[in-house]
Amino acid sequence: MEIFLAKTQGFCAGVASAVEIVEKALQKYGAPLYVYHEIVHNTYVVADFKQRGVVFVESIDEVPSGARIIFSAHGIPPYVIEKAKLRGLKFVDATCPLVTKVHKEAIKFSQKDYEIVLIGHKGHQELTGTAGYVDHDLLHIIETEQDVDKLDISSEEEVAYLTQTTLSVDETAGIIRKLKEKFPRLIAPPRADICYATQNRQDAVKDLAKSCDIIIICGSPNSSNSNRLRETGANQGVESYIIDRAEEFDVHKLKGKKKVGISSGASVPRWIVDELVDKIKHSYPSAVVHSFDNPEKNIVFPLPTI
Ligand code: SF4
Repeated sequence: MEIFLAKTQGFCAGVASAVEIVEKALQKYGAPLYVYHEIVHNTYVVADFKQRGVVFVESIDEVPSGARIIFSAHGIPPYVIEKAKLRGLKFVDATCPLVTKVHKEAIKFSQKDYEIVLIGHKGHQELTGTAGYVDHDLLHIIETEQDVDKLDISSEEEVAYLTQTTLSVDETAGIIRKLKEKFPRLIAPPRADICYATQNRQDAVKDLAKSCDIIIICGSPNSSNSNRLRETGANQGVESYIIDRAEEFDVHKLKGKKKVGISSGASVPRWIVDELVDKIKHSYPSAVVHSFDNPEKNIVFPLPTI
């Protein structure tokens, strides 16, 4: 058996800096430290911080007046910042700069009075954050190509679109194609909103799919980009699974398989992948592991003042 590790996987620059912000704030100010929403969508990153005194909240009302709060990598709508200021909270914004870029596009399009089609998953924290920067009367949220047919926007209007950063590159391309058919003058953001990390991880899974007969993605159930990786593998016709941790994977699924591809979402720590490799090697001791030099290793985002 051979095990192939996807060449780009695991923490992206946005997640690495959000995790480092919480680490540094814990060191400097100690517990309890409040974080608005899960800092990144990974069960074990969140559990580890909880154990060390981080309190994750879904509402500013849950934070005592004057306390310190960190906003998660997914971004927050502006009313949350306003509320934090009104409550006298000290805050650090760990929003990924690539999400902030989408927020700025939303503000710019709103100022121009464009009807704004926001492509993403309803209820996802990032989409909620971005939607907060769009003028409510101009906002149209869609998830699928079918939703394009339901859009009730006059052809006279200027229409622009934005996307969540962690969508399926292929599916989103299909939605945008359909939008362009419906609105020929459709205005695109200056640079694609789906981020480099999402694109690279999906491309790397497509590479795995060329040679592997099973693909296992490490990632939590609420992680958008991890779920898209499993779908990417499945869409290439390869049996694909997503697991939060190695213990969830049934090694019997490897019976008869010769080449196993492993990848992980942008919020997954490396030890989770290592644990899965160890588990497979325990059952197949002669399995050879192929890994690659990470081409993203020099991408680092600056930290805010903590
Ligand atoms: S997945 Fe992309 S947008 Fe999200 S935190 Fe990582 S780099 Fe930023």
